[in-house]
Amino acid sequence: MITPILPTYNRVDLVFERGEGAWLFTRDGERYLDFTAGIAVNVLGHAHPHLVAALTEQAGKLWHLSNLFRIEGGERLAARLVAATFADTMFFTNSGAEALECAIKMARKYHSANGRPERARIITFEGAFHGRTLATIAAGGNAKYLEGFGPAMPGFDQVPFGDIEAVKAAIGPETGAILIEPVQGEGGVRSASWGFLRELRALCDENGLLLILDEVQCGVGRTGKFFAHEWAGITPDIMAVAKGIGGGFPVGACLATQEAAKGMTAGTHGSTYGGNPLAMSVANAVLDVVLADGFMDQVLATSTRLRQRLAELKDRHPAVIAEVRGEGLLLGLRTVVPNTELIAAMRAEGMLAPSAADNVVRLLPPLTIGEAEIDAAFEKLDAACARIEQGLKADTAKGAAA
Ligand SMILES: *Cc1c(COP(=O)(O)O)cnc(C)c1O
Repeated sequence: MITPILPTYNRVDLVFERGEGAWLFTRDGERYLDFTAGIAVNVLGHAHPHLVAALTEQAGKLWHLSNLFRIEGGERLAARLVAATFADTMFFTNSGAEALECAIKMARKYHSANGRPERARIITFEGAFHGRTLATIAAGGNAKYLEGFGPAMPGFDQVPFGDIEAVKAAIGPETGAILIEPVQGEGGVRSASWGFLRELRALCDENGLLLILDEVQCGVGRTGKFFAHEWAGITPDIMAVAKGIGGGFPVGACLATQEAAKGMTAGTHGSTYGGNPLAMSVANAVLDVVLADGFMDQVLATSTRLRQRLAELKDRHPAVIAEVRGEGLLLGLRTVVPNTELIAAMRAEGMLAPSAADNVVRLLPPLTIGEAEIDAAFEKLDAACARIEQGLKADTAKGAAA
């Protein structure tokens, strides 16, 4: 019999009662080190006092208005994001996929407003993940996510990640934009080289294309810069943001330059909940912390320490870990054994992490972890690897006996 919740997820059989920083607690008091962080969402960990205060204060005043009225928290958040990024303007959403939907519509509308409505095609990259709506599964191009859902939305041309010649070859008279994650998350924690991003920027400028960045996972401090593209020294025309910006409250945003947004006039796009006062109060509180002096330095220092320990771990367990990859605190362990095996062993040691493509275990801790959490992560990973090695030894012994 079907479960009351549509069974589209294979859920871990754990029920958590509360969280505190990087730790999650079950009702019977077991605690888990949370390097899933809601899939790169809880950038400040669980129950961060500043976020709790912002949300509860707003909850006593006003929950929802709709976008038929001015929303002060949204105006403040937008002004702060304009000041801190390339953007001149933005649209607030409830999720990453909606931010991408807005980005795709905006790019098409831009060319339409310029009298070139045929320039509706967007170049995307293999291994990409942009969400689960009909447009974003077409953009992502993952056959598994498209299967059975009817004709894929047309307008996306996919090329290998990092292949500039393939991008050039894919540009035609109907191409309007290039869409890329600076660091692919679901795709296996794969970084585009910063040089590749600069080449894409130049190609867009030469060909009148818009550069759309999907920073839903790699943005908001995850790589040690507010947004990952800052490492490349370039700016996009449009950027999708979500996950970390709400710190656990559903918020997304589609940021853009004035030029790229020129087609998006009154009535062209909308959302009932997007930019709702509760969401805006929490996102503003996230920015209070993330944009404070020294926060990014702290993320980078934490990343360096964690990576050192992960390199040590790889040396200790070459039969389990093949490679440490990623940027900042968007890290991945490519495993020798199936990644699901390491994830299960980690869980048995009280540590949580999600998988990614390319046989990778993602490590996405809250950006606020300290020395104690890094040590705990090392110990738990070390023990998890030892567990797997015990199993491997037993298998070899069985093989020898047979
Ligand atoms: C998670 C994610 C999305 C989709 O976000 P949702 O909030 O799940 O719709 C899009 N792009 C990237 C890179 C993501 O990691």
